[in-house]
Amino acid sequence: MTELELLTARASQVGSLPVARVLPSRPHRTVGAWCFADLMGPVDLPAGEGADVAPHPHCGLQTVTWLFAGEILHRDSLGSEQVIRPGQCNLMTAGHGVAHSEESVSRAGGRVHGIQLWAAQPSATRDGGAEFEHHADLPRVSLSGPRGKAEATVFVGGFAGVESPARRDWEIVGAEVQLRGSVDIPLVATHERLVVVIDGSVAVDGTAIAPGAHAYLPPGLDGATLEAADDARVVLLGGVPFPEELTMWWNFVARSREEIGEAWQQWSEGDSRFPSVASPLPRTEVAPPAWFSG
Ligand code: MN
Repeated sequence: MTELELLTARASQVGSLPVARVLPSRPHRTVGAWCFADLMGPVDLPAGEGADVAPHPHCGLQTVTWLFAGEILHRDSLGSEQVIRPGQCNLMTAGHGVAHSEESVSRAGGRVHGIQLWAAQPSATRDGGAEFEHHADLPRVSLSGPRGKAEATVFVGGFAGVESPARRDWEIVGAEVQLRGSVDIPLVATHERLVVVIDGSVAVDGTAIAPGAHAYLPPGLDGATLEAADDARVVLLGGVPFPEELTMWWNFVARSREEIGEAWQQWSEGDSRFPSVASPLPRTEVAPPAWFSG
């Protein structure tokens, strides 16, 4: 019998968007290297309203944006300008430092539904250069059994024999799985993972996951059964447990408060570590962390 843990997301707000914070969670601050996961919406924005996140910095992490509905314009300090749509993956590696904005493509309103993820970079790469990738053509894999079928799109890492071309700095997996009926999915035994329910009602190894909840499956499993009476959609996030202790504050992933304080100061002073973003939105300023003393 699987030792499955049921976890509940915390309601929060990012700008005008309601979000459900899946990670970090209390029992599991990270899953693989995944250290942050916000479900955005679904929300129907009225005409005239956008969902903008003004320029802000990152370090020590990769951001992965994955949409189920809507479109978002990504701009960053590398000069990238890229619209992302459902089924596509925007992956930005921050390394030592990068800044970016996420903007609504138009003010026509409409549905926004997606997941915003961060993967912590290991010490081997976290002080390296920044990079941006857009993947519009990701591998898909069909899984079927006598009592159901599933179709997965793999945006990071490998799943069920297919591999995303996206850069990864740690052994992680991110995949969207649409399913109906009962389907056995393969898992990598050295990974831990979360099954995050996006649409519909899903049971994992016989345990029903309520809307807004998600299931944690520990390492040691080589498969699981997903079951949905009607059309359903989940996101699988997994990986080899991340061995480094993280210090996270605002948009920074580091290893100590000193590193965080330095990053905050450099952003506030307009240091070249975090170059500017060609965005019409003003840069985001925040007060220093409580422990910061200059
Ligand atoms: Mn960001």
